[in-house]
Amino acid sequence: MDMEKIEEEIRKCRKCNLWKSRKNAVPGEGNYSADLMVVGEAPGKKEDEMGRPFVGKAGQILNEIFEENGIKREDIYITNVVKCRPPKNRNPLYDEIKACFPYLEKQIELIKPKLILTLGNFGAKVIMELYGFKAYSITKMHGKIFDSPLHQIKILPTFHPAACIYNPLLKEKLYNDIKKLRDFLK
Ligand code: SF4
Repeated sequence: MDMEKIEEEIRKCRKCNLWKSRKNAVPGEGNYSADLMVVGEAPGKKEDEMGRPFVGKAGQILNEIFEENGIKREDIYITNVVKCRPPKNRNPLYDEIKACFPYLEKQIELIKPKLILTLGNFGAKVIMELYGFKAYSITKMHGKIFDSPLHQIKILPTFHPAACIYNPLLKEKLYNDIKKLRDFLK
């Protein structure tokens, strides 16, 4: 199955209850052969309205930091662990993550990224466990590059940009973590 078909399937998906409250599922977007894949948590209000990932305030912060580090959105693939917005932006539930996970797994399989940047606790937990790493809280894991030679992949967990909107200190940490991608992308 190719990526366009997966994205189409996600747009019609009803595998968990989140389809009932969503306006649009948000499959992800970007370069299908990207070296860098970004995995967030779940779509927010703006993303739900537009059916596109990271287009709200958190997305603006991310774009700003990417731009400062020479990373172009069109060169990367960006998606979330859960493809539909949880009501009132609550955390995704275990069953929702489980139901949605095969889509993310398939997306990774097709893109074959060299590095996955995870944003926030849920993104980090799902991706770290997928590659056999033990996941700790994001405050302990952020900014470290975890290397899995077996899967030929590296993982860099960092904070979710939504958490940085009113927290300049956290934003600085997010910036410093993403800065580490500069050398990788050279
Ligand atoms: S969150 Fe995932 S599993 Fe649930 S309805 Fe949306 S696409 Fe389907």
